[in-house]
Amino acid sequence: MKRTLKRATLQLLKSAGVFGLVRDSAWRRHRLLILCYHGIAHEDVQLWRPGLYLEPSRLEQRLDFLRRGQYNVLPLGEALKLLWEKHLPPRSVAITFDDGTFDFFSLGYPLLKKFGFPVTVYQTTYYTDRPIPVFNLVCSYLLWKRRGGVLDKGEELGLKPPLDLRSEASRQAIVQTLMDNCTRDNLDGMQKNEVARKLAGLLDIDYAEVLSKRVFQLMNSQEIAQLAREGVDFQLHTHRHCMPKDKLLFQKEIQDNRECLDKIISAERVHFCYPSGVYSHEFLPWLAEENVISATTCDVGLASPHTNPLLIPRMVDTNARNDLEFEAWLTGVAEFLAIRRAATQHYPAAHND
Ligand SMILES: [Zn+2]
Repeated sequence: MKRTLKRATLQLLKSAGVFGLVRDSAWRRHRLLILCYHGIAHEDVQLWRPGLYLEPSRLEQRLDFLRRGQYNVLPLGEALKLLWEKHLPPRSVAITFDDGTFDFFSLGYPLLKKFGFPVTVYQTTYYTDRPIPVFNLVCSYLLWKRRGGVLDKGEELGLKPPLDLRSEASRQAIVQTLMDNCTRDNLDGMQKNEVARKLAGLLDIDYAEVLSKRVFQLMNSQEIAQLAREGVDFQLHTHRHCMPKDKLLFQKEIQDNRECLDKIISAERVHFCYPSGVYSHEFLPWLAEENVISATTCDVGLASPHTNPLLIPRMVDTNARNDLEFEAWLTGVAEFLAIRRAATQHYPAAHND
């Protein structure tokens, strides 16, 4: 359904009182809406990837809407337990953030705290105590900052000039070449950071400034520990933000992720989120063997007691959704109008080394 037609339909349904009827129905009572956020907009990153970021003011509006609408915002683990027991309170919602980037610490959490809402962070951990940005993301961002140009250098980084920075596809091809070169040369995270620094130099961008603003950096151990003490729930998202097709490597991602988080703060970690929302049915028994009891995707929808616990849908909330669409998901109305398809991949590649 085209977005304008969909919005007109939603407006009509809202005017006719359908939103309220569905929101307070027995059907909605047995369903849980899990909201999914990635990053909170800072600097100009929301222009680079509009589908990943939400303005802080928009997040505040969303949280205010939840409060005014008397939605029951529950901790994820409790919400899932009540869902499976068919004992959810009316208008149940859970809030999740993926990745655990620094902007959650600086911008997202303070707003959640203001409203007193519980939150689960699906924390990836490879970069936790490396004060450097996720390599592929920062390279993509640096090239995007010089979009529109053609660069006549780059040999020192194994690139073949001229480098066309005018399209997302050509910029992404450059990122891929840089990643392939790093893999070929077996570079670790810090060495890859030097590649990103050199790239910034070629593009005449102050890399020290990018580093100081902690763009694409994860929360460090101290920040995670501080938030955990304040009640933030940290759950699994793989160590390197990737999903190997090999069972042992896949399970090592879960084990390393759990071990890193346990070193910072001990807690039960049995909830998982597929990196980039990418999943395969072969992963399900592997997750179960690792004592994972819930796994969320980025496919849009509400969870019911009959939903496969290892394929739980969420509603990815970004600047692209207006208030009416947000409300339609909260009430459950949007579930009936949704186009069923797997979510698109959000990240160009893994956070690996
Ligand atoms: Zn992620």
